[in-house]
Amino acid sequence: MKINQAELVISAVSQQQYPNEPLPEIALAGRSNVGKSSFINQLIQRKALARTSSKPGKTQTLNFYKLNEVFFFVDVPGYGYAKVSKTEREKWGKMMEEYFSNRQKLKMVVMIVDIRHDPSEDDRMMYDFLKHYRLPVTVIATKLDKIKRGQRAKQLKRIIEVLELEDEDTLIPFSAETGEGKDDAWRTIRSYIGK
Ligand code: GDP
Repeated sequence: MKINQAELVISAVSQQQYPNEPLPEIALAGRSNVGKSSFINQLIQRKALARTSSKPGKTQTLNFYKLNEVFFFVDVPGYGYAKVSKTEREKWGKMMEEYFSNRQKLKMVVMIVDIRHDPSEDDRMMYDFLKHYRLPVTVIATKLDKIKRGQRAKQLKRIIEVLELEDEDTLIPFSAETGEGKDDAWRTIRSYIGK
């Protein structure tokens, strides 16, 4: 899909602020620093979608980006910061619960992991959380350009094993550097937004 329009409509912390438009939503989750921005920017062919900082201490928000008046990418704050306070973590948990537990417009969640490593405890928790709400998940195994070709199959197998990836879910090797996996990612997203 060629993206001509990408607009940050709102940074929301609670339900009342979510956009009230009849468009499907695809959420994007991933550990901090895993390569989420690079994934989005490669998909929409922008140098940098104006993203608010997800650093600790900054307000954690759900950022709703409207693309081509067709669907929303909902950028979820990165997880896995060891240093955030308990209060911050609780606030984050509540916000995630509020969105993921009961959002009809949410069609699928893209979860980004690093292909070089086994998914972390945080990745596993996130995946289990999403499956608890019976959401379809597309796992993007990014930084594909950083491993040798011969290691690919083994690493992908590890991701399936560690996450206990369900059959209905999709795993796509991806590189923001080379663009590999981009067509697959788009094809999968489109199948969920009906475009
Ligand atoms: P975010 O915090 O999850 O949004 O992570 P970023 O997109 O900012 O990426 C974190 C770092 O990983 C940056 O230095 C990126 O250049 C690098 N990076 C992200 N994706 C890839 C990739 O596919 N290949 C390589 N080689 N580096 C990547």
